Amino acid sequence: MTTIVIKVGGGEGIELGPILDEFAQLVKAGTRAVLVHGGSHETNVISTRLGHPPTFIKSPSGHESRRTDRETLDIFKMIYCGKVNKSIVEHLQSSGINAVGLSGIDGGLWMGKRKTAIRAVDDEGRTTIIRDDFSGKVESADASLLDLLLDSGRTPVLTPPALADDGNGGRVAINVDADRAAAVTAAAIGADELLLLSNVPGVLADPSDRSTLIRSANDAGIKNVRTAAGGRMKNKVLAAEEAIIGGVARAIIGSANGPVPIAAARAGAGTVFQSLMNGTTA
Ligand code: ADP
Repeated sequence: MTTIVIKVGGGEGIELGPILDEFAQLVKAGTRAVLVHGGSHETNVISTRLGHPPTFIKSPSGHESRRTDRETLDIFKMIYCGKVNKSIVEHLQSSGINAVGLSGIDGGLWMGKRKTAIRAVDDEGRTTIIRDDFSGKVESADASLLDLLLDSGRTPVLTPPALADDGNGGRVAINVDADRAAAVTAAAIGADELLLLSNVPGVLADPSDRSTLIRSANDAGIKNVRTAAGGRMKNKVLAAEEAIIGGVARAIIGSANGPVPIAAARAGAGTVFQSLMNGTTA
């Protein structure tokens, strides 16, 4: 039986209805499927409405990430675990799928490491150290919890945050990248495929030109794919690579839009990463 992990983005311009309907059909056809989602655009909109607009940290290498102070973390939980996760579960339940919505902190599903010191470059080019950020990276996913659900006919719908040690014997929620969490999850449950679907058709050689889609990461060479990917596409490429290294046979970065985005991605519409014999991409 095929096992598949599908991550749908939380970026602007993604219509969730059609992809959830297609996902429901896939589950009904007997595929073991896990859905992972984000909520970044919605979080930006609501946090601004709540008077706590998003701010972003720029690393010395130019990488941008969301500044997650305590208040942002609370808003993040409201949107990701609340509004977005429960809307998806409601949609799938109404399509006849027994969906179970969980965040990475529920049952300690996603364990990660909190960043204790983040180097940030301010507008004047000075580097500062941020120590009170609630963000980090997922390192493991509890496959036994996911198997328990999948084996009993439930469909997990997963979302950040994840859980980390707080350094004082306790645990704390951390904002993590959902693409890379999906990759860790796919590797943990021995998935055959990982689909990372967002508002772009895949990795573009020229990000401003949709006709420059890189169809095969193996043919293009992974170094060229890494170089082409800017901004938030970097995390998707890393996630695809991590999934392949973790034993997933195929990872595809593709579009979440269109009438049948899941079937299209699985048919190769997107950037396809395939494992070679030694478990790595080209
Ligand atoms: P989501 O939130 O849906 O997971 P993101 O918006 O985080 O997706 O990531 C996709 C974004 O990555 C695109 O909207 C685009 O702006 C950016 N990007 C940067 N470089 C590239 C590239 N080479 N090809 C495609 N997209 C790119």
